[in-house]
Amino acid sequence: MTLEKDGVLSPEELAHLPGVPPAERFHEGPVVVIECAQEIPCNPCEGACPASAIQVGEPITNLPVLAADKCTGCGLCIPVCPGLAIFVLDMTYSDQEATVQLPYEFLPLPEKGEIVTALDREGRAVCSARVVNVRNPKKFDHTAVITIAVPKDQAMNVRNIAVDRR
Ligand code: SF4
Ligand code: SF4
Repeated sequence: MTLEKDGVLSPEELAHLPGVPPAERFHEGPVVVIECAQEIPCNPCEGACPASAIQVGEPITNLPVLAADKCTGCGLCIPVCPGLAIFVLDMTYSDQEATVQLPYEFLPLPEKGEIVTALDREGRAVCSARVVNVRNPKKFDHTAVITIAVPKDQAMNVRNIAVDRR
């Protein structure tokens, strides 16, 4: 599976992106994972970060580069990304679970405490997830940021949710 062939990043491709933190950083608390792999003219993530942890610079087609030591995991870069390519992982959330903050543009929004289905990058169901937080202020412009808790071994796989209200 590769981005070019299947439209989905492989683990090897992910590991080489300049927006993905080194493995050891995940032990230190929440941190952003920027899955931006195409050299398109785009940079709102750079301006949205209050910690100056993301640099695109010139030319604007550069891939975003993360200074992982500066990132606080606030998630403010998530809703500004038109590619829905930014996530925040907290592998230190609890012994068994990690949290994933992800962008969500569907309705209905999930509610805090709700159990939803966690999906991988290909839209396949991988596990259940508990909604820990829902942020949808006006300034996020209809891209809500949902925080879910999932088993730790799924945190690098889960990138979307399905809300089932039947
Ligand atoms: S999560 Fe917050 S601190 Fe980290 S890169 Fe995004 S905006 Fe910056
Ligand atoms: S806003 Fe999203 S698509 Fe644009 S450069 Fe940043 S990560 Fe890439």
